[in-house]
Amino acid sequence: SAKHNGKQTYRVFEPTLMEAIQRRRALEASLRRACMRDEFTIVYQPVFASQSGAISGAEALLRWTCPDQGEISPTEFIPIAEDLGLVTRIGADVLRQACKDAASWPGHIDLAVNVSPVQLLDPRLPQIVTQSLADSGLAPHRLELEITETALLNNDLAALRTLTHIRDLGVRISLDDFGTGYSSLSYLHRFPISRIKIDKSFIQKLPDDVGSASIVRAIAQLGASLNMKITAEGIETDSQLSFIRDHGCDEVQGFLTGRPIPPAAFLALAGTQTDFAEA
Ligand code: C2E
Ligand code: MG
Ligand code: MG
Ligand code: MG
Repeated sequence: SAKHNGKQTYRVFEPTLMEAIQRRRALEASLRRACMRDEFTIVYQPVFASQSGAISGAEALLRWTCPDQGEISPTEFIPIAEDLGLVTRIGADVLRQACKDAASWPGHIDLAVNVSPVQLLDPRLPQIVTQSLADSGLAPHRLELEITETALLNNDLAALRTLTHIRDLGVRISLDDFGTGYSSLSYLHRFPISRIKIDKSFIQKLPDDVGSASIVRAIAQLGASLNMKITAEGIETDSQLSFIRDHGCDEVQGFLTGRPIPPAAFLALAGTQTDFAEA
């Protein structure tokens, strides 16, 4: 540790490290309370067909406003929830609530829910999915679970078993943040994956960055040849949108076409707006 590396290192790193540890401790305590007090909400970000511009679905994104520290990003609290063993419970609540919300949307609008690698290793996940569908009345084909490459890396036999079970329920699986993990292309045909979501770090460098443009083109071709759908995530500009429309991405999701919004606002949008061109 830093303490054993001499005075210099100790003095340079200790304040930052202490601050990080203190914030982490505070968030751990707050997160345990949050679970009991139900401080979480879900927002929905619309997804559109890139060619027609028609709304095709929404991704459920978890929000937590901590009474002490204010709004905390899921990129910060989900890993803590994983470490504390809380993510399975939080994730089950998200799935249950999101399926309930989606059941009242028009039938052509699908629901995507993020699943942490820890949830994926829990053998109860298929049962939780089954129960959420049964309680809400949502048709299985309208639900898609988003997993990341990390989830497949750690324990791939257990993950394969769980994902196959979920696929057999009629629920689809997508691979989120594609291109940022420890990608092994063999995952793509070994697991029952029906969609790739290209990570926003590539999309955001379009259209000028030659490397990102090549990667996006290559992923789109790979998806087409493996019979998978492609979603481009993080579209913020018109030129990014026209690039991905020209390069075979089926769906788009980004601040340009629609930010994440509360359930009631999404329900209203789903009922009225059918085309991002109208936005
Ligand atoms: P993700 O699943 O890749 O979700 C997309 C993230 O990109 C969301 O961030 C969304 O708000 C953001 N985003 C969408 N379009 C744009 C854009 O045009 N520009 C930019 N800069 N960002 C855009 P958010 O809501 O902060 O979520 C971050 C991550 O936290 C998610 O990434 C997901 O990995 C995780 N997460 C969120 N909700 C849940 C959940 O219910 N369960 C689990 N396990 N993870 C979740
Ligand atoms: Mg996602
Ligand atoms: Mg995503
Ligand atoms: Mg993503």
